[in-house]
Amino acid sequence: MMTTRTAEKHLLPAASMGNTRTLTSIRYGVGSGGKKAYIQAGLHADEPPGFLVMHHLMQRLDHADADGAIAGEIVLVPVANPIGVAQWRDEILQGRFDFYNSINFNRQHLDLSAQVADRIKDRLGDTAEENVTLIRQAMAEVLGSMAPADEAEYLKHLLLLLSYDADIVLDLHCDDQAVLHVYLGTPLWPDAADLPAQLGAQVTLLAEDSGVTPYDEACSRIWWQLAQRFPHQPIPPACLSATVELRGTADVSHELASGDAENIFLFLQRRGFIRGRAPDLPELCNDATPLRGVEHIKAPASGIVVFFKEPGERVEAGEVIAEIVNPLASAKKARVIRITRSIAGILFARKADRYARPGRVLAKISGKKPLKKKGENLLTL
Ligand SMILES: [Zn+2]
Repeated sequence: MMTTRTAEKHLLPAASMGNTRTLTSIRYGVGSGGKKAYIQAGLHADEPPGFLVMHHLMQRLDHADADGAIAGEIVLVPVANPIGVAQWRDEILQGRFDFYNSINFNRQHLDLSAQVADRIKDRLGDTAEENVTLIRQAMAEVLGSMAPADEAEYLKHLLLLLSYDADIVLDLHCDDQAVLHVYLGTPLWPDAADLPAQLGAQVTLLAEDSGVTPYDEACSRIWWQLAQRFPHQPIPPACLSATVELRGTADVSHELASGDAENIFLFLQRRGFIRGRAPDLPELCNDATPLRGVEHIKAPASGIVVFFKEPGERVEAGEVIAEIVNPLASAKKARVIRITRSIAGILFARKADRYARPGRVLAKISGKKPLKKKGENLLTL
């Protein structure tokens, strides 16, 4: 059996004389008007679990490909941020913010909705299928009309160019110390529930707009933005795009990564990208909750954090989550400050280091109800 796997190298514009970086994309299956899935890892280059999952997923797909079992088109970008992955400083790989302008590599991705709306406003039809085709054509035209010169902007444009027409987009990340959790667009729920269920995600967070356009939203949000703009024509949420947080930065093992790769494989199989029958879908651990319901536990003072709750543990309203200890605090009672919370939920992520400074986010708790005090930006820096 012939393999369908191909690899392509994409050059980024040189930000410095004589320095050119390369992004590699790998493609399985033939892309002739069928379904397309796109998966990338390491947009935050300092988050290693996704790279290892990609390694195991490619092994699984190589086998399926050799068996002629790839039914759709599957595009993988195993190392999505060649800029960030080179950001070594003092023996630590940084990888989250562009050194040039401090912009987070997973924020401020492209919002094509206004330009696409202009192109399609008089051409929308009466079926969802023809509108999906029309909108994807318009997205291609808008993307084709852009020529970003800045290296990081070029990278963001390139990643969207590789994925704008995908039915499924998975962006693999991780948190500091965390249980597996998934970010999804609210309009994708509950149709997309098979993703967190198969992955064994303990928390699924839903938002229509997180306010900062991470990459997964650049792929999916445009569909409901256009649906709101043109309420009389059928426009479905045609891209199931998710950010998958593969636990914490140190959760890197062949056991975990091969399990995650297998779950992604089964999800793709159930969705018709790989021939064969996937086993019954596991039950979802916990129902989805609003991203607006996530409580960011902030340090009230400087000191050392001592956590009393592990990632994945349920927290009751008012329970002690951690203490901030400062041996130099002048008043005796200020030497140990207890952090208690008003909301109940799952503590799904916490800082890996143990330093507190006033306002620093130390942990995240997913509550069931939207929090009123949340502003427009629902994500951390
Ligand atoms: Zn990340």
